[in-house]
Amino acid sequence: MIELIELSKSYGQTKVVDQASVLFPPGKVTAIIGPNGAGKSTLLSMASRLTDSDAGQVLIGEKPLAEWSNEALAKRLAVLRQSNNINMRFRIRELVAFGRFPHSKGRLSDDDNRIIDDAIAQLGLEELQDRFIDELSGGQRQMAFIAMVVAQNTDYIFLDEPLNNLDIRHSVAIMQTVRDLAHRHNKAVVVVMHDINFSACYADNMVAMKNGEVVASGSVNEVVTKPVMERIYEIEFDVKDINGQRICLYYGAPTPALALAQ
Ligand code: ADP
Ligand code: MG
Repeated sequence: MIELIELSKSYGQTKVVDQASVLFPPGKVTAIIGPNGAGKSTLLSMASRLTDSDAGQVLIGEKPLAEWSNEALAKRLAVLRQSNNINMRFRIRELVAFGRFPHSKGRLSDDDNRIIDDAIAQLGLEELQDRFIDELSGGQRQMAFIAMVVAQNTDYIFLDEPLNNLDIRHSVAIMQTVRDLAHRHNKAVVVVMHDINFSACYADNMVAMKNGEVVASGSVNEVVTKPVMERIYEIEFDVKDINGQRICLYYGAPTPALALAQ
C-alpha cells in the first residue's frame, strides 16, 4: 500500500498540490484524472521522491518515504515520467534491461534475461528489440519504456500519461498490461491519463484532481459522476451507464458558470 497524507507543494506563491490524501492499494489500478496543471505529475513526483514535498507524509509499505534507501526504493517502486528524454543511443532490449539494474547491478543473470524477454513479449516488441530508441515512432518508444518498467518488476508502479502517442490498439494493449500487473501480480499501479472513458473501463479506483486538490477519490462509480466531472473540467457532461460501463459524453458547451465568467 502507498499512502499519501495531506501532501502539499507550492512553487512561489502558488500552491500546486494542496493537502492531497490518497491511497494506492495493491491489486488495484488507480487512475488519476484532471485538467492540465491540476498537480497530477507533482503529486506522483512527491510520492516517488523525485520532488520534495513542503508538508505531509508518504508511506510506502507503512514505512515513511524518507526512510527508504534509493536502492531499496528502486526495487519496490518504478516510475515512468511524463516525458522521457534520453540522450544515449540505446537499443530497445538495452533499455528494457535497464529496468533490471536495481536488481542486477549490471550483471544480468539468466533470470534477468528471462524477465527481459517476458517484458519485451508482453509489449509485443520482439521484432523491434534490436532497433535504436531514437529510430522508433513515438508510440513504439512509449511501449519500450513501459516494457522497461514491467521488467523492473516492482510492487508499485507509477505511469504518468503512458498513453501519450499511442493509437487505440496500443492504448488497449498498455491498459491490459496495467490491469494484468495489478490483478494477476497484485501490484499497486497508478496511471495518469486523460481519457475518462478509458480510465473508467480499466481502472478500479480513480482520483480526480483540480487546482492541486483531490476533488474526489474512490471507485469508478463514485468518481465518474456528472457533478465531479463538470467541476473538474468546467464543461457539460452527460454520464451514462452503457453495458455496465460508465461512459461520459462531453462534447458539449462550457458549463453556464464558466460561460458567465468569460
Ligand atoms: P499536471 O501533471 O496535472 O498537468 P503538474 O503537476 O505538472 O500538473 O503541474 C501543476 C502546476 O505546478 C502547474 O501549474 C505547473 O505549471 C506548476 N509546476 C510544476 N512544476 C513546476 C516547477 N518546477 N516550477 C514551477 N512551477 C511548476
Ligand atoms: Mg502531468
